[in-house]
Amino acid sequence: MRDFSQDHRWLSINTATVRKSLGQEQPLTGIIEACARLQIPAISPWRDQVAASGLPTIRQQVKTHGLKLSGYCRGGMFTATDGAGLSAAHDDNRRAVDEACELGAACLVLVVGALPGALAGKAAHKDIALSRQQVHDGIGELLGHARASGMPLAIEPLHPMYAADRACVNTLEHALDLCDTFDPEQTGALGVAVDVYHVWWDPKLQAQIARAGAKRLLAFHVCDWLTPTTDLLNDRGMMGDGVIDIPRIRGWVEDQGFTGFSEVEIFSTANWWQRERDEVLNTCIERHRSAV
Ligand code: ZN
Repeated sequence: MRDFSQDHRWLSINTATVRKSLGQEQPLTGIIEACARLQIPAISPWRDQVAASGLPTIRQQVKTHGLKLSGYCRGGMFTATDGAGLSAAHDDNRRAVDEACELGAACLVLVVGALPGALAGKAAHKDIALSRQQVHDGIGELLGHARASGMPLAIEPLHPMYAADRACVNTLEHALDLCDTFDPEQTGALGVAVDVYHVWWDPKLQAQIARAGAKRLLAFHVCDWLTPTTDLLNDRGMMGDGVIDIPRIRGWVEDQGFTGFSEVEIFSTANWWQRERDEVLNTCIERHRSAV
């Protein structure tokens, strides 16, 4: 297992972590400057943040600083109530693949979607099996374009508490079943993003990480599970402040040969998004060394 205690060369910052500073939305350009200044070698930006600053601007800035992209957030949301909705999702996902290529990302992260309408407050139906079928079909369809573009797709299983509104793939096992279906040769074109927040509780976690192997472990996301958690989405903890044994999980991932970045991804309305950006980034650096 790599020694993280001496430096932060394997640290990546998911830019949602500092998308707000003192409660105010921050432009991605400023976030990138701050990461470069603190010698953070990698980021994983969100599409809306990139769009707000302009993709050519961000591409140039990333290049100027020699930053790596541990991933691009995000594609997915494959489910819909009709054919027009499905094809709109497909078109948008193709664009996400193209953007990820332009930015030189290591992978496009997929949050696959769930019951259509649920995220907006009213699910159009209760048929989660139908949603899973649409996700299955959507990944299969997108993979052709992603393969042709050389952009790996990383399915991110989300904690089951998001099964209704964000992702109906909730275990690493399910995500890997999809990988087996569409990429049985394990070419690296389709894999998984292991986010400790979503999978730490899973009794099959170690076995499924071993099943994934190096070819399919495309991204590793860290934060912590707080007790109590006060918000289902935006109360993620800083590494070391919660109950996840992060070094143990990182050990399992690295046992398979994973040598990528450890990406800090924290959504925290009441705590970290209320603090100064540099304080958050410096805490990420410190905890990367001591708690990851
Ligand atoms: Zn994640």
